[in-house]
Amino acid sequence: MKTANKTVTATRLVKDALEKAKHFEDYNIFTFINEEGALKKAAEIDAKIARGEKVGRLAGVPYALKDNFLSPEGETTASAHILEGFTSPVTATAVEKLEAEGAIMIGRTNMDAFAHGSSTESSYFGPTLNAYDKERVAGGSSGGSAVAVALDIVEFATGTDTGGSIRQPASFNGVYGLKPTYGCVSRYGVVAMASSTDCIGFFTKTPDDMSLLMSVASGQDPKDLTTLPDYYNDSEIKKAKKIGIIKDFYLKDSEIQKCLEHKCEELEKKGYEIVELEMPALKYALAAYYIIVPAEIASNLSRYDGVRYGFRSEKSDNLDDLYKNTRSEGFMPENKRRIMIGNFVLSSGFYDAYFLKAAKARTLIVKEYEEAFKKCDFILTPVAPNPAFKLGEKVNDPVSMYLEDVMSVPLNLAGVPGLAIPAGETSNGLPIGLQLVGPRRSDKSLIEFSKELM
Ligand code: GLN
Repeated sequence: MKTANKTVTATRLVKDALEKAKHFEDYNIFTFINEEGALKKAAEIDAKIARGEKVGRLAGVPYALKDNFLSPEGETTASAHILEGFTSPVTATAVEKLEAEGAIMIGRTNMDAFAHGSSTESSYFGPTLNAYDKERVAGGSSGGSAVAVALDIVEFATGTDTGGSIRQPASFNGVYGLKPTYGCVSRYGVVAMASSTDCIGFFTKTPDDMSLLMSVASGQDPKDLTTLPDYYNDSEIKKAKKIGIIKDFYLKDSEIQKCLEHKCEELEKKGYEIVELEMPALKYALAAYYIIVPAEIASNLSRYDGVRYGFRSEKSDNLDDLYKNTRSEGFMPENKRRIMIGNFVLSSGFYDAYFLKAAKARTLIVKEYEEAFKKCDFILTPVAPNPAFKLGEKVNDPVSMYLEDVMSVPLNLAGVPGLAIPAGETSNGLPIGLQLVGPRRSDKSLIEFSKELM
C-alpha cells in the first residue's frame, strides 16, 4: 500500500484518488465525495511528516467507505431513501481505527439499500456498474466498494458481509474481499442488517494489504459485546497441508468449475493434498439464511419510523400514518419483502415451523464445518455459481437473486472466515473469484495461504 512520505504527499495521494473518482463518475460508485474533509486531513498528515513526527501505518492512504458505516462526514444513508438527510453523531469503531493510522476517506460507496441484495440494483441511488463490463452488475451489496478498488480509485474499501456482500462483489470485479471470523472486527457504528451474521471486512488488491488492514481493525471493543479478543495480531501463521473441495458445490459445464479444478491441480503440484468433502447440510443453508436473516432484519429495521432518523413522509396528519407512510415511501421493495418475511417467520403459529427449524439447520451447518476442518486445513469453493450477470437480469425475480448467495451464506451461518480471491477470467473476459474458507480464527493463515493461489 502506498503511504504518504516526504516526496509523495498525502495531498497528492488524495487529489489523485479524487480525480479518478471524478473520471469514473458514470459507474455510480459513490453516494458522497469527501473532497473538503479529505484534503484537510491530508494537509494535517503532510504537516506532521514535514515536522518529522511519527505517522500511522496507513498515513495518507485514500479509502472508500461503504455507505452503512456511521461517521459525521457526509450523510450515512445505507443507500436507502429512509435515511436520506441523516448525519451521524457517532463514528464507527472500524473507521476510528483506520483513521487513527492515517487512512483518509475520500467517499462513501453505493450499496443495495440496507445491504439487502446481490447487485446494488436495490440502491435508492441506482446500480453501480461492473468494472469489467458496464452492462453488468457490480455485485452486492458492497458493489460500490468493490468497483472503487477494481478501478484503482482507492487502495482499499470497507464492506459488510452478512451473506456474501463482500465476497461476491469482490469476485465479480477481480479483487480480494475478506469476510473475517464473526466477531473479529467491531460492528459498533455500522447499520445493522442481521446481527447474528453481520461482519465487517475489506476489499484490497493484495493479500498483504488485507492482512495490514486486519491487523489495524481487529480486536475487542467494549461498544460491541460480540467482539473477540484480538486473536488476529496474536495468532501464528499455520502451514496448510490439506485443502478440501465440496462435492455438493459441483458446477456442471462451468468455467468457474474449470478454474477451481485448475487451481487444485496447481496446489497438488506444489505438494498439497486435495480432499473431497461431503457436506450435505449445506443444502439447507440458503433456506435457513432466508428465514433467520429476514427475522433479524424485521427487528433491526423497526427503529426507522420517521421520527428519529433521516426522511419523514410529509403526507401524514397522525402518528400511525406517519409511521406507515414514512416506511412505505422510505424502504425499497426488497427491504419491505424482508420485513414481511421476517415478521411472518417470527409470528406465533409459524415460529416453530420456520424460525426454529432454520435455527436447527444452522446448528447442523456449524457442526458440518467443524467436522470438515478435521479432514482439511482450508476449503476452496466458488464464491457464486456465476460471474457478473447483466443489469436487469435478476432484479425482478427475488428467488433467482437469492440463489446467487448459495455458496456464500453457509459461512455466515457458521461464523467462519472466507476470502474471495481473483482466480481467473471467463472466455468473455469477466473475472472469476474463488473462495478460501477456514476454521474460526484462522483469518491470518487464510490470507497468507491465498498467496499460493496467485
Ligand atoms: N446477498 C445477500 C443478501 O441479500 C447478502 C447480503 C449481505 O451480505 N449484506 O442477503
